[in-house]
Amino acid sequence: MATEYLCKVCRGHLNVKTSIVLAATRANSSERGLIFLNPEIGNYTTTTHPSFSIKEGAEYVYTCPICHSQLNSAKYNHLVRIIMIDDKGKEYNIYFSGIAGQKCTYKIRGSKIETIQGPDAKLYDKYFEVPEEDRKYL
Ligand SMILES: [Zn+2]
Repeated sequence: MATEYLCKVCRGHLNVKTSIVLAATRANSSERGLIFLNPEIGNYTTTTHPSFSIKEGAEYVYTCPICHSQLNSAKYNHLVRIIMIDDKGKEYNIYFSGIAGQKCTYKIRGSKIETIQGPDAKLYDKYFEVPEEDRKYL
């Protein structure tokens, strides 16, 4: 079983062939298009049609191309959430930045942090702070 990425709302499959496909709209603009993300965590390569260029530093609203639900987190400002199911069938929440150019990924299972990755991960790690009483077990 391969790693699968699902919409957090409709649980439709977002990974097609070698990419995760999402629809994106630049905040406060009419610029929108499809964006292909690399499913390998820590690889921040994105692909878009030449008519839709991603602007570094701009915030994007990501939507599911299947059900059109917004994937930006209501709980964590500037982060986007999708679901990952690994090759063993375990389910995780994957958070990444909705701000173009910010490289950070948070892989969370339940309330447990699995991995925090990327050179910009410090920006939002406060959202996932480990309770003081649990730190001694890490
Ligand atoms: Zn959906």
